[in-house]
Amino acid sequence: MRIEILHGDITARKVDAIVNAANSSLLGGGGVDGAIHRAAGGELLEACRELRRTQLQDGLPVGSAVATPAFRLPARWVIHTVGPNRHAGQTDPALLASCFQESLTVAAGLGAQSVAFPAISAGIYGWDARQVAQVAFDAVGSFSSSGRAGDSPLEVVEFVLFSEDTTAVFRTVLESSP
Ligand code: ADP
Repeated sequence: MRIEILHGDITARKVDAIVNAANSSLLGGGGVDGAIHRAAGGELLEACRELRRTQLQDGLPVGSAVATPAFRLPARWVIHTVGPNRHAGQTDPALLASCFQESLTVAAGLGAQSVAFPAISAGIYGWDARQVAQVAFDAVGSFSSSGRAGDSPLEVVEFVLFSEDTTAVFRTVLESSP
């Protein structure tokens, strides 16, 4: 599995799955969540409402992930995950690691070869981008060395960062990763 760092808009990525930094309601929000819903069209909100109604009456828990089709996006699926909100006292890195691990597990289950992540929790939810990058790369590393990766066709894990600063942080952390 190969990691790539890109500067840009995740909604434009033609990968099998893009990951959405959603909130527990799954009913849309600001930041990357809003951008994904706008670009995917109203069918995405409908699909999320259906998930809430049928499987997730109490919302998607922090650290969990669930997939929907990507509708009008170039990607095939959107994997929604809920990052920890530092402003709400959710400061345990294990919750953030779980977002990356669960999203990779869902991607592998879909048979995805490529998946693109934003900097989950590094926006409105207030985490430091450096810590998000560290947790993300560790999660990819442990996923790829676990049995789960062996059976999956996952080849490329992209991190698509919206600002130049965050892109530079992710590149620096990746270069210093073991
Ligand atoms: P959270 O609530 O998990 O912090 P945000 O959407 O506020 O989620 O921010 C997560 C990251 O996504 C931030 O670094 C933000 O700059 C970035 N972001 C916002 N829009 C996009 C986009 N279209 N593509 C990629 N990243 C984006």
